[in-house]
Amino acid sequence: MTELRIAHMYPQEMNIYGDTGNVLVLRRRLQWRELAVSVVPVGLGDELPNDIDIVLGGGGQDATQGDIGRDFVRRAPQLRSMADDGVVMLAICGAYQLLGREFRTQTGRVIQGAGVLDVETVGSSTRLIGNHSVETKWGRLVGYENHSGLTRLLDDAEPLARTVSGCGNNGEDSTEGVVRDNVFGTYLHGPVLAKSPAFADELLRRAFERRGITEPLAPLGDELESRAATVAAGRPR
Ligand code: GLN
Repeated sequence: MTELRIAHMYPQEMNIYGDTGNVLVLRRRLQWRELAVSVVPVGLGDELPNDIDIVLGGGGQDATQGDIGRDFVRRAPQLRSMADDGVVMLAICGAYQLLGREFRTQTGRVIQGAGVLDVETVGSSTRLIGNHSVETKWGRLVGYENHSGLTRLLDDAEPLARTVSGCGNNGEDSTEGVVRDNVFGTYLHGPVLAKSPAFADELLRRAFERRGITEPLAPLGDELESRAATVAAGRPR
């Protein structure tokens, strides 16, 4: 059976709210199904292999985003080419912002993005914080948000979801995240995939499909995850 390869971007630098958990969730959901998987950490200066099936990136402080910015943008042509080729990507908060065109921090520092996503982000003086869950076409996402960056969708960029209670991209236009081909950006930490099993499996399904493997994933007993999601989604903001 094909081994799925997951690239974990900047595991040391971009994990301020435990988004590494998303790597653990996808790896475990493959292992439970006795499917082969490898995780490739991609830190500053490390090679990003071209045979990657899923790219995962987590949250980071403005300063850290600046620190990795040059390394990240050096990878922009490869990341854009991978996105065009249907590689699955899930970028959380800081990584989401850096997959956009640029992130202008509160202090006016402009961090160039990879240009994979048609979004741009401007830092604000307030932080958008709180428990948040949204309904997407591929299942509920349950987590929390904590960001000062306000992200705007550009051109015909498609939001991942519409907000009901939380702030989402910017607290104004009721959009949360963005989706482009197999690339997903969201502000939801959690780690978000821990309580969003259907969405986690959608990422895996797409990665296998890109490899020409379309047999359905064996169902897993997600009762615990679903119960946890319901409790978390019911928590006050
Ligand atoms: N530093 C960015 C912001 O505050 C991203 C924060 C994060 O990754 N949680 O908007």
